[in-house]
Amino acid sequence: EGPEYQSLCKAKLVFLGEPSVGKTSIITRFMYDSFGCTFQATVGIDFLSKTMCLEDRMVQLQLWDTAGQERFHSLIPSYVRGSTIAVVVYDVTNITSFKETDKWVEHVRAERGDDVVIMLVGNKIDLNSKRQVTAEEGEEKSRNLNVMFIETSAKTSYNVDKLFRRVASALPSTS
Ligand code: GDP
Ligand code: MG
Repeated sequence: EGPEYQSLCKAKLVFLGEPSVGKTSIITRFMYDSFGCTFQATVGIDFLSKTMCLEDRMVQLQLWDTAGQERFHSLIPSYVRGSTIAVVVYDVTNITSFKETDKWVEHVRAERGDDVVIMLVGNKIDLNSKRQVTAEEGEEKSRNLNVMFIETSAKTSYNVDKLFRRVASALPSTS
């Protein structure tokens, strides 16, 4: 018997959402287990890569962050192109950022159709007393949009690993 080879699947994962919802902070928590001194995505650094071992396979996630280009909607199609996972983030203390998530999901579907795993993320739940969006409202929207849903805090790290594990596990095994 030869050695066991485990397939490695690569996945381009893009972060979308309004400015300041915590996209870069979630990536920084996941990659460096730190908060507050977020790395600054700059021109030239396209993505960060991290390999996750799941039960049945290894998945190399390529995490794409925007360096503020989320303001320039014309850039979104090229950013989303080729992605197999899209993480759409809102801030639970900012109702506008929640309302805008429909638009981000539409952008992803327009470019990727159904060939993409989409996760809706309500971030900053450590600021519970300032909530403008309940967990139930997030859940309901995710059902209506037919996407996955999770609430996180990049500050406390609550559910951040789980977020990445769940999207990686949701990839079709052939990708
Ligand atoms: P981005 O523009 O979506 O990339 O957002 P950033 O990651 O730059 O975060 C915007 C601001 O929100 C920063 O001041 C962060 O420190 C703060 N922030 C991000 N995530 C959290 C969180 O989970 N809890 C709290 N309390 N603040 C957060
Ligand atoms: Mg950012």
